[in-house]
Amino acid sequence: PNATMAGHDDVGGAAKAHFVFVPLMYQGHVIPTVDTALLLATHGALASVVATPSNAARIRPTVDFARRSGLPIRLVELPLDCAAEGLPEDADDVDKIPFGLAPNYFRALTLLAGPLERHLRAHPPYPTCIVSDFCHAWTVQVAANLKVPRLSFFSMCAFCTLCQHNVERYNAYDGVADDNEPVVVPGVERRIEVTRAQAPGFFRAPGFEKLADEIELALAESDGVVMNSFVEMEPEYVAGYADARKMKVWTIGPVSLYHQHAATLAKRGNTTTAIDADECLRWLEGKEPNTVVYVSFGSIVHADPKQVVELGKGLEASGHPFVWVLKNPDQYGEDVRGFLRDLEERVAGRGMLIRGWSPQVLILNHAAVGGFVTHCGWNSTVEAIAAGLPVVTWPHFSDQFLNEKLAVEVLGIGVSVGIKEPLMWVAMKEIVVGRDVVEAAVRSIMDGGEEGEERRRKAVDLSEKARAAVQEGGSSLGNLLDLIKSFEMDVGGCTVD
Ligand code: UDP
Repeated sequence: PNATMAGHDDVGGAAKAHFVFVPLMYQGHVIPTVDTALLLATHGALASVVATPSNAARIRPTVDFARRSGLPIRLVELPLDCAAEGLPEDADDVDKIPFGLAPNYFRALTLLAGPLERHLRAHPPYPTCIVSDFCHAWTVQVAANLKVPRLSFFSMCAFCTLCQHNVERYNAYDGVADDNEPVVVPGVERRIEVTRAQAPGFFRAPGFEKLADEIELALAESDGVVMNSFVEMEPEYVAGYADARKMKVWTIGPVSLYHQHAATLAKRGNTTTAIDADECLRWLEGKEPNTVVYVSFGSIVHADPKQVVELGKGLEASGHPFVWVLKNPDQYGEDVRGFLRDLEERVAGRGMLIRGWSPQVLILNHAAVGGFVTHCGWNSTVEAIAAGLPVVTWPHFSDQFLNEKLAVEVLGIGVSVGIKEPLMWVAMKEIVVGRDVVEAAVRSIMDGGEEGEERRRKAVDLSEKARAAVQEGGSSLGNLLDLIKSFEMDVGGCTVD
């Protein structure tokens, strides 16, 4: 890096480009954004990451570590005016947003526009580009006031964004009365079917109508797109989206692959993990290659208690070693907690439960891990791909149904548990996937056989392509360097004065 580390705030003084990242402050968006910021900083651009206090607390150790290593990266902490939108004071932590008040949270975020603009004017160097999560339509005005370009950041794949875009632009659901009636996605060569329930469009949900329209407008006005994907995985969809939007798409992922330090990887996305990373790795050390299945539903999903028990029984019956992450088990009653304790005893040495945040990427990349039962959040999906793992797909909401289709139908690395309708943020039905289905799905990705071998071969092949993409001469690294070059100041660079 050509940055200097003369003093605390001089970091980035020599950089010619200054990217300001405004992530949506859910972990599935913050994590790849911070990774991208680190990447740009590694290649000499100054990167500022905007965060509200609880998110800033989660990512500060990562940013501080990078700064101590000499990287030109800054954290811009801005308070969120929760009270203005009738939210509790601590609701800048998305885990604390009361049920049903998510629209208020999104309105509160728009109030960051003024403070952000003032901050950027007052703290040189002046930005050369704003990289905004695509959900933040309000950053359009900030970029316009500052007279700087604005790129949309997607923690989603091109397949999903293109399918979703085409369904909307060709009004594919017009005249379709039933939300569960399959509709063929227009404008893509492969036959892909979706339902309105599974893929209603970004934020096409009650309470979000205005935001959804604003997001579409903001997307259309973007100066380009940055995406955590890699072109070799989905070339026709990357090209298709760029073409549909008439804008440049920089695929720079999988961003998780750039992590060089096990220490920062272990804390990726959170300051504390529910398990010591070394202990976890030691446990995995004792297992044969490709025998352990990792089970996690990401940072948002909270599974129904009866479904938790059913899943546990299915994992037990599968006979495979497993690592099962439960986001928030303390919220369950004594019946479920007791079941989990008994299960742990029965499968001692074979099954490990992680209660809370897990060092996911570290685990996925261990040789003992051979498969992933995932809710198909895009980060988890692309992390599985980067690690060369076949997946059991169990989508809940948002882009997850399309990610499932990519994994199962396009890439051929997944086995679906067969969810047809979204389960929303908190599962609304009790048991949707029976223990037998869990057992059979786990066995089919882990037990080999011709189809199983073929899935694993495809997953490993994709992983090799992903790794090549982020190496010297690879497409993602090339795009990253091109991105920096595209937003460098023409003369002299940014100076701190
Ligand atoms: N993650 C993690 N530990 C956990 C849960 C999640 O490291 O215990 C990370 C995971 O590696 C991924 C992100 O959090 O990078 C979750 O994003 P994803 O898109 O998969 O799902 P979401 O949480 O947005 O539903």
